[in-house]
Amino acid sequence: MSEKFDVIVVGAGPAGTSCAYTCAQNGLKVLQIERGEYPGCKNVMGGVLYRQQMEEIIPEFWKEAPLERPVIEQRFWMMDKESVVTFGYKGLEWGVEPYNNFTVLRAPFDQWFAKKGVEQGVLLITETVVLECIVENGKVIGVRTDRPDGDIYADVVVLADGVNSLLGKQLGYHNEFRPDEVALTVMEVINLPKEKINDRFNLEDNQGCTIELFGDSTKGNLGTAFIYTNKESINIGVGTTLSSMIKAKLKPYDLLDYLKTHAMVKPFLEGGESAEYLAHLIPEGGYHSVPKVAGNGVVLVGDAAQLVNAIHREGSNMAMASGKMAAETIVEAKNRNDFSESSLNLYREKLYDSFIIKDLEKYKDAAHTFENNPQYFNDYVPMMNRAASKFFTVDGTPKREKQKQIMRSVTEERGRIKVLQDMYRAWKAVK
Ligand code: FAD
Repeated sequence: MSEKFDVIVVGAGPAGTSCAYTCAQNGLKVLQIERGEYPGCKNVMGGVLYRQQMEEIIPEFWKEAPLERPVIEQRFWMMDKESVVTFGYKGLEWGVEPYNNFTVLRAPFDQWFAKKGVEQGVLLITETVVLECIVENGKVIGVRTDRPDGDIYADVVVLADGVNSLLGKQLGYHNEFRPDEVALTVMEVINLPKEKINDRFNLEDNQGCTIELFGDSTKGNLGTAFIYTNKESINIGVGTTLSSMIKAKLKPYDLLDYLKTHAMVKPFLEGGESAEYLAHLIPEGGYHSVPKVAGNGVVLVGDAAQLVNAIHREGSNMAMASGKMAAETIVEAKNRNDFSESSLNLYREKLYDSFIIKDLEKYKDAAHTFENNPQYFNDYVPMMNRAASKFFTVDGTPKREKQKQIMRSVTEERGRIKVLQDMYRAWKAVK
């Protein structure tokens, strides 16, 4: 038998590296396997990294990690064809220690993070694909890789292989996705000089800004678009669930082109040079799609366990937190020398007791509600825009009369009962 490890971690994204790092930090012998040429080379993210969960792994990481900008402003845009209603929050407290979150580019960040794992003692091998888990008597005992003599053994295998998790599917933990459980997102990195970014987004020095765009940004389909500021580039992306794309016959790259030429967006990008074009799936099935996360000798973390809160665009933080919880469970299992499903199920308990499953549970019906009721994006967002235009146009109409006209046009368009039903349904989906 070839060399045996305490833990084999498949994947060097935020989930895998958090788990590998924490296991090694606690003295376990860890092998991390990544199929890419280097960690991050295949990874795609809009780019917001949350400080809290990262700091729980590496305190004050911002002093050395390759970050882009600390985000001091979050904007939300409700877009119509030629207008936008905006709201958001800007706070200078987010621009100083300990910060709230940061924009990042995944390739440099993932490489740096994985290197920190190696410094803790993780053995990282890249350009190696895990083809399957080796199962004996119902227990995962190792992995088969595409290297010659590629079987490697461990007490626990951690599947951190991302949204598709072919390994999780092979074990029967996942089914094939339903089209309403995943979003296909395309994004582009557009280079722009720092001064231009600061002028256009009203920022100073290294301050960052994020914009989430709804409504016409996805041509009224369930999904979102985003614009995030990096040091000298902007990330712009858009995605909808596969089911919406199929229903509306949308092509993702057409949607991105449409967004980039939208009258409200175009001025932010003017003069920029396209540096990268990426496409990736996001697991958006939420609470109902979380698979079995622990078995005999195996655990699933991050996107492989479908841990993404699409409403709050949180994924990397859930990946990191789940990776850490899995690692802590494995350390405890090692102390008991028990890697059975019942022993590793402690990870499931930690997960269900944490913000991760609590938040997914809170929004468990939201995606279906919004997908089955397209009026929220198709009708209400344009209505909001028309209402704002009317209310802020100074034309001699008394304000109370304007309010009445706006209310009348909303109820006439949709019907009073339907408006009340829509409001109740939306409240129920996100309460
Ligand atoms: P991944 O980052 O996907 O890593 C999986 C790794 O496993 C990869 O490196 C892959 O190469 C490797 N791998 C897969 N199969 C194998 C195999 N068989 N053998 C060896 N290696 C393998 N989250 C946020 O928090 N903020 C955001 O702003 C945000 N924006 C997003 C925008 C887009 C367009 C997308 C697609 C996602 C976004 N997310 C965001 C979600 C976030 O990127 C994911 O939740 C997070 O990356 C999950 O981390 P992970 O480690 O589980 O998986």
